Amino acid sequence: MVRAELPEHATWEPIAPGVLRRRLPGLELNVAVVTGRDGILLVDTGSHEREAAELLSSLARELPTHDLPDRVVAVVNTHGHFDHCFGNAHVLDAFPDAQVWGHAGLPAYLAERADEGRAAGIGYGFDADLMNAARIVPPRHVVGTGEPVTLDLGGRDVVLYAPGRGHTDHDLVVHVPDCGVLIAGDIVEESGPPQFGSDAYAAEWSDSLGRVRELGAHVWLPGHGAVVDEEFVARQTRWLADVAAGRVVPD
Ligand SMILES: [Zn+2]
Repeated sequence: MVRAELPEHATWEPIAPGVLRRRLPGLELNVAVVTGRDGILLVDTGSHEREAAELLSSLARELPTHDLPDRVVAVVNTHGHFDHCFGNAHVLDAFPDAQVWGHAGLPAYLAERADEGRAAGIGYGFDADLMNAARIVPPRHVVGTGEPVTLDLGGRDVVLYAPGRGHTDHDLVVHVPDCGVLIAGDIVEESGPPQFGSDAYAAEWSDSLGRVRELGAHVWLPGHGAVVDEEFVARQTRWLADVAAGRVVPD
């Protein structure tokens, strides 16, 4: 059951120097920030605009206590499922100059399937009025599959990488090379098994995840659930390969 309020423990938790995550109630969704001298990169924006508003006020409240900036200079959407990007509009209202990044396939996905996302959110127990009111803002800056883009946050490079099809046809991950962090979106899952929706590519997922593993990260933030290590991801890659080969049938 989705809870209406955030629990008190839902704070920004450092997972590496200047990289923090916040775990949202209900779906155990992880949002993350990567901080640089110029401001922060926000990875995913929550399920609706009120959730994004709460995220931003928590940033303003908590990041200065870590001596970190709270100004959003860029947003990355890991993919188009509602819980990862339906808060975009509110973030842009607050930070109109922020660049919104996503996979090159994300704008078309949102154009075709946003209503499906609203219905999914309502199905998971999110407030129907909030889901229906969420304005859909696609990324204006895009990353092609196999064509990494490096963002400079001021003294810190962050790499956006689209490894190929898996959880969706437009998965995008965020690599922070200076501390070995990989923000994976839903191509890695901890709070439950990987989700094969009608828009997933079971036969290709393990190969795409294998390409992400080649980046050599050692701290992985899944789209939902706890921070995991490379050994966990290696195990999940093998399970996905078993699914692709028909040796395992996911629920
Ligand atoms: Zn997803």
